[in-house]
Amino acid sequence: MKSTLRFLARSLVRLALVGALCWAGWWLLMDADSPLPPEWHPLEPLDVAAPESWLTGMKLRRAVSSEATCLSALGTGARFEAMPPLRAGACGIDPRVSLRGVGDADLVPVETTCAVALRLAMWERHVLAPAAETHLGSGIARIHHQSSYNCRPIRGSTTRLSTHATGEAIDVRGVTLADGRRLELRESWSGAGAVSDFWQAARDGACTWFVTVLGPDYNALHADHFHMQSRGWGLCR
Ligand SMILES: [Zn+2]
Repeated sequence: MKSTLRFLARSLVRLALVGALCWAGWWLLMDADSPLPPEWHPLEPLDVAAPESWLTGMKLRRAVSSEATCLSALGTGARFEAMPPLRAGACGIDPRVSLRGVGDADLVPVETTCAVALRLAMWERHVLAPAAETHLGSGIARIHHQSSYNCRPIRGSTTRLSTHATGEAIDVRGVTLADGRRLELRESWSGAGAVSDFWQAARDGACTWFVTVLGPDYNALHADHFHMQSRGWGLCR
């Protein structure tokens, strides 16, 4: 009898605990008054301008998984036009956008995939602009690129298509700071000093938001730009 009562009491306590946990989970995740800030809420979509959290990488991967979620996330931190897909044999851009600005930085309009545009916006917001403020005391007014889409094989190959052939990469060669200084990667990558520190931070941080990043440390072909791509084998150099 005693052991039956003990068993019942323990079962009731367990049931109450499970109920409380379910209620807390529902309140945190589903309730409109959830106290979780959006960047910590796993069901909230990516907002480019939101502070980074442990969930931001997961939110970015989810955002780039479909055209609708990507365009919606891009709208939180970029100026762009959505365009119909470009299809040219094995080459093309889909989903395709014409991007003319990310965060505070303008761009010469560039046609690229939504994923590259979104990753560039995350890089500008969470890496490039903070690094410019830290090392150079200024914001970023403009990002200079060498385009994204180019229907060509990978350099050194005659058959394998470059990620540029599908608009899944962008080449960045320099920036103009908000104070008017123009910085070219080729001229200021190496050596000691604040500008070089800025570029190193920009490259290192790019690896968080892009899948593969190749710069001057990789080889001479990349001496004057960062090649940043939205898929690949995860190299960061
Ligand atoms: Zn490239």
